[in-house]
Amino acid sequence: MTERVRVAIIGSGFSGLGVAIKLREAGIDDFVILERGDDVGGTWRDNTYPGAACDVPSHLYSFSFAPNPRWSQAFSPQPEIFAYLRRCANRYGLYRFARFNHDVRGAAWDDTARLWRIQTSRGDFEANVMVSAVGPLSDPALPDIPGISEFQGKLFHSARWDHDHDLTGERVAVIGTGASAIQFVPEIAPAVGKLHLFQRTPPWIVPRSARHLTELEHTAFSSFPLLQQAIRAGIYWGRETFVVGFAKDQGVMKVAERMARRHLAKQVPDRELRRKLTPTYTIGCKRILLSNNYYPALSRSNVDVVTDRITRINPHSVVTADGTEREIDTLILGTGFHVTDMPMAQWVTGRDGVLLADAWKGGVQAYKGTTVHGFPNMFIMIGPNTGLGHNSMVYMIESQLNYVIDAVKFLGRPGVSDVDVDPAAESEFNVDVQKMMERTVWASGGCDSWYLDDNGRNTTLWPTFTASFRQQTRRFDADRYEVRSAPVLENVR
Ligand code: NAP
Repeated sequence: MTERVRVAIIGSGFSGLGVAIKLREAGIDDFVILERGDDVGGTWRDNTYPGAACDVPSHLYSFSFAPNPRWSQAFSPQPEIFAYLRRCANRYGLYRFARFNHDVRGAAWDDTARLWRIQTSRGDFEANVMVSAVGPLSDPALPDIPGISEFQGKLFHSARWDHDHDLTGERVAVIGTGASAIQFVPEIAPAVGKLHLFQRTPPWIVPRSARHLTELEHTAFSSFPLLQQAIRAGIYWGRETFVVGFAKDQGVMKVAERMARRHLAKQVPDRELRRKLTPTYTIGCKRILLSNNYYPALSRSNVDVVTDRITRINPHSVVTADGTEREIDTLILGTGFHVTDMPMAQWVTGRDGVLLADAWKGGVQAYKGTTVHGFPNMFIMIGPNTGLGHNSMVYMIESQLNYVIDAVKFLGRPGVSDVDVDPAAESEFNVDVQKMMERTVWASGGCDSWYLDDNGRNTTLWPTFTASFRQQTRRFDADRYEVRSAPVLENVR
């Protein structure tokens, strides 16, 4: 049986829950949340690797309309953020809208009926509006290394951590030294027998505040919410100034680089190891990482940082370009996610049966990071060029919420059936974004990062102040859209 709804939200992480909360606040209850997992939480449900935590301060990394006065630390660990999202889902009564274990397999725009036809692993749905809230960090990227499929030991990705597998005393290889690896490596290093850490590019790392919030602070935030709001605003504006270094004047990044170099010098006494761990690109070109325990873990006698390129993986070993073969029991991939090649592009088809991946052949783009010409009534949360290197993604999500909910309300007007962004508006917007991008450290910092697509174009990050994105998404600008009225068909809501 096909279930018909006004809005189908795909995904129940921060952004999917945000959409659901704001729909309910707008008095719209005719929606479903299609979720492939068995609970809400998205990336914060899936990334359970040891040491998983947020590198954005918790006061800021939460919904502005649902503060949590009881964060345990300045930067909270994953279980607390997951619990926070579940609490939000409960508080706003969202569980009854969720369809868990519904893996979306396809979504096609029916231009006659003016609705989305969505196929999931557990049944079909029809929706006037489809909001993709699948997130850019949901599908693990597995490295294409010769022989990897024949590996006979234990293998898993950091986002699919196998907690039943005991690493104690094992010979373990870790591939990747990004935001995830630098958090789990210090946790597993003391337990394993030997850890070979395969590093392709060293990250820049700065110290992280490990401060625990006190009971007094919890009481104060509970009793005086304005106090927490003021701190949140302070953190937001403090981080917002970083845009100057990232996107306007890279000279400013020297301050951060000095801090990172001092951190490395202080924590890694061994000169050879320090050399291996010193990046050669401008700080900020890749995500700046925060850690106090990563470098000390690498100085342990059972940890070996390998910078030679991996050429092959054998059933029980990893071989590098210098011919060295390292025998291992377990291989852990900290190799990140499919970001610029969003998997949803392969299963969404718009007007005239055009596959989103084909519409994006020339490069991934959207109007205001949210809508794509030829895909009416589709809104992408954390879409192209909405990512951040310096501030909280929740701020960007809340900006998009204003836009999307306003659009859904607009679509509820009598006679309006669908909106399709004007291709000229989409193109102008992206020309501006890419122009601003030219001056950023991500474009000229001398690194290759997951922010860039195969053509070296940054389709991931927002290139300027987030307040400007908030301003642009305050309202749904119907004048930049082709607005069509309902066809004379009784099955359109
Ligand atoms: P990532 O930052 O993309 O790092 C992937 C790592 O794997 C990099 O070191 C990369 O090397 C390496 N790698 C990828 N393919 C490889 C290959 N074929 N051979 C050798 N090395 C390879 O992934 P992540 O650490 O999972 O983090 C992804 C994003 O998730 C972060 O940037 C961040 O936005 C988010 N995250 C956030 C937090 C948080 O605290 N809020 C925590 C974890 C993750 P290269 O650098 O040379 O490409």
